[in-house]
Amino acid sequence: MPPADAVRTSLDEVWIQVHPTSQAKCVRCWHLRSDVGGDPRHPQLCMRCVVNVEGPGEERKFA
Ligand SMILES: [Zn+2]
Repeated sequence: MPPADAVRTSLDEVWIQVHPTSQAKCVRCWHLRSDVGGDPRHPQLCMRCVVNVEGPGEERKFA
């Protein structure tokens, strides 16, 4: 039996249940990520943004 707040899909026995995330929002990229605040020098940034602000930048696979 699915949870009471689950929504039925068009597929048999497939239900969707949605919850808001509790992860923090990075002030630079606005992504909700668990690694926001991972660098104490930038408590409001995710680690991806820290690499782009402080380091050589992330490796981009597509230009
Ligand atoms: Zn970020």
